[in-house]
Amino acid sequence: MILNAFNLEGKVALVTGCNTGLGQGMAIGLAQAGCDIIGVNRAGPDETQSKVEALGRQFWSVQADLTRPDIVSTVVEQALAAAGKIDILVNNAGIIRREDALNFSEQDWDDVMNINSKSVFFLSQQVARQFIAQGHGGKIINIASMLSFQGGIRVPSYTASKSAVMGLTRLMANEWAKHNINVNAIAPGYMATNNTEQLRNDESRSEEILARIPAGRWGDPDDMMGPVVFLASAASDYINGYTIAVDGGWLAR
Ligand code: NAP
Repeated sequence: MILNAFNLEGKVALVTGCNTGLGQGMAIGLAQAGCDIIGVNRAGPDETQSKVEALGRQFWSVQADLTRPDIVSTVVEQALAAAGKIDILVNNAGIIRREDALNFSEQDWDDVMNINSKSVFFLSQQVARQFIAQGHGGKIINIASMLSFQGGIRVPSYTASKSAVMGLTRLMANEWAKHNINVNAIAPGYMATNNTEQLRNDESRSEEILARIPAGRWGDPDDMMGPVVFLASAASDYINGYTIAVDGGWLAR
């Protein structure tokens, strides 16, 4: 029956950047659907861990700074040592730096590109190799952005990195579909998290943004739960390389 296809009981999901915001919402959503969770964060994600454990699921913590793409193989090794397998990868950890393009620094370019794009690719590569070794395929869900579709203002490295995420999602899907690996992305719209605190505190930008969202509100981490469970589950087995907007209608305007 179709609802059984959404059941993730017995699956292990690795979620990066899950101590707060959208990553926390998705880790909890996946745990509600039956997953045990490996959380990859800079510091211990205590609140997420206790919320996942309260659902009767296991939670393992791996500490890593994902601005360093060279450490992703260690991340996968530690994850496997703890959980024994990985079925689902959610590449969520990401940062943003705001500055006029004329003044944008190389450091702000490199930091954002490293975590938002380079680590996403190399972590996906490591996990895809593991999926192939395990022999049952797997699911990779990347977190894109409205700036995978649009140019944005004062966020050059963020726009470049999230445009890369949408392109890489298609490339990885093309190469790995034959191994029963689905690679898709979710593009959140304007969501109330740390990432958008500066924007929400800027009264005129905040008003402009809200006026353009047909749903009439900022999104929140719970809005990510349904889409991530769908893309992590057998219900989406024939969806490959697609980026789903979860944006209250922003892109439809
Ligand atoms: P957030 O609350 O700032 O969460 C970002 C997460 O990434 C945090 O857990 C953060 O951990 C982690 N992280 C940051 N730097 C890291 C590093 N060097 N190594 C490992 N983890 C690191 O922001 P969010 O809004 O939930 O963002 C989650 C994802 O959604 C990002 O990829 C973001 O670009 C994307 N997104 C957000 C929006 C939005 O409107 N909020 C819209 C489109 C896309 P710390 O707490 O330790 O910093």
